[in-house]
Amino acid sequence: MTMTSDRPTVTTGPDIERLRAGADAIRSIGERSDRLRRLEEHLRAHEAEYAEALASDLGKSATEAWSTEIGFVIGQSRYARRHLREWTRPRRVALPAVARPGRARVIPTPVGVVCVVAPWNYPLNLALAPAVAALAAGNAVVVKPSELAPATSALIERHLPDVLGRDICDVVTGGAEITSALLAERFDHIFYTGGGRVGRIVMEAAARHLTPVTLELGGRSPAIVCSDADLAVTARRIVWGKFINAGQTCVAPDHVIVEREVADRLTALIRSEIERAFGEDPSESPDYGRIINGHHVERLSRLIANSGAAEVIGGRIDPATRYVEPTILVEPDPTSEVLSEEIFGPLLPVLAVDDLDATLDSIRRGPTPLAMYVFSSSDDRARAILERVPSGGAVVNHTLLQLAVHELPFGGMGESGHGSYHGRAGFDRLSHLRSVLQRPTRPDPRIAYPPYGRVARSLLRRLTG
Ligand code: NAD
Repeated sequence: MTMTSDRPTVTTGPDIERLRAGADAIRSIGERSDRLRRLEEHLRAHEAEYAEALASDLGKSATEAWSTEIGFVIGQSRYARRHLREWTRPRRVALPAVARPGRARVIPTPVGVVCVVAPWNYPLNLALAPAVAALAAGNAVVVKPSELAPATSALIERHLPDVLGRDICDVVTGGAEITSALLAERFDHIFYTGGGRVGRIVMEAAARHLTPVTLELGGRSPAIVCSDADLAVTARRIVWGKFINAGQTCVAPDHVIVEREVADRLTALIRSEIERAFGEDPSESPDYGRIINGHHVERLSRLIANSGAAEVIGGRIDPATRYVEPTILVEPDPTSEVLSEEIFGPLLPVLAVDDLDATLDSIRRGPTPLAMYVFSSSDDRARAILERVPSGGAVVNHTLLQLAVHELPFGGMGESGHGSYHGRAGFDRLSHLRSVLQRPTRPDPRIAYPPYGRVARSLLRRLTG
């Protein structure tokens, strides 16, 4: 990478034409499977090394490092391998009378070179899971991990090209400038995960080459708790989903909206669940992570200070160790920043509402959240809420668990992004679904071609439209 006077250009960056040609090497299912298996074996063999990097970047426990990062990627890869034959098989479609006789098929074909731009919060998962989808679909890949998770980024750079093969994989590291230069290249798909501000930059860069993009963005995913919910289980599942990775999860429940009659009970239960999970002093818990950097610690500290909450439960911060205590903000000021921006940290506002429907309508008018969590013991009530408010994905009576289901496409809508992946959705997203119609040359009735007589006209009218 070098700088010219006005615009940085990638001069030592990935050789995209070489990678595009390299993708020919993984046309066969067997070759794709082999490369994916190599990745799985590598991750298993180097689990401790990756866990250490994740602990250094985010204070992740070995358990979280496995379940949400290393093991998650292995699971995605194994699932893809097991289904490759089925996914790649041409999909036969029915022929309308006008196109008979013949054979119509949709054939998934590789797109070429996929550029994966990843964020820092799940620095391994969000760099490698899209790469797995790209590879399964038969593409070469350029991975740009986040500079804000330097230990994990360095490991990806050191190992990935050799593990997957330098013919089909390259890794570029660096910050905004390097990424901008990288995005000026002509890729066949750009797969970006991160915030909406950069998402817009990515889309603009992609427009130059008409490159398709997938944007996996964020947003304020609400947890909506109805008065008929099982409050003990609800509290436990909200605490689990909120404070995993110290709240730095794109689909974490951002805030809780609860019907007023059960608000105090729920708050008390959340408080005791936090203590049960992380002890009296969560800074000593081996299962509680750290904030990515000082800038975000400061941001979260400001959010607490300006929240105008009626009560702050928790709130201890140690900038030196990037520790922010799991914190409940009871009834923050409705105009505060903590209620208007994605929190992306371990602060949990709890808002009691008298008229849940009115609150749901106001969520619907705002940016579409990436996820929504509804807690109710009534299926009808939960369904009515899901119908009223759109979101990228939704879970009834749990949090985050949508990610464990390979066949649930994962992605947002509107402000939370577009395009989904995981399982077959990822394979389809990074394939071109090519339509192929094959016809025999005979019969070839003359009547189907101009000049159209009266019979031909009436036949064509009946067979089309
Ligand atoms: P980040 O700062 O790590 O940025 C993401 C990527 O964009 C990095 O690789 C970075 O190098 C690159 N980048 C930064 N500035 C750039 C610029 N000016 N031009 C080009 N590239 C640039 O991550 P972030 O944006 O802080 O990530 C947090 C956000 O990501 C949150 O909003 C979160 O909700 C969202 N997120 C979404 C998902 C999802 O799957 N939908 C997952 C994780 C995070």
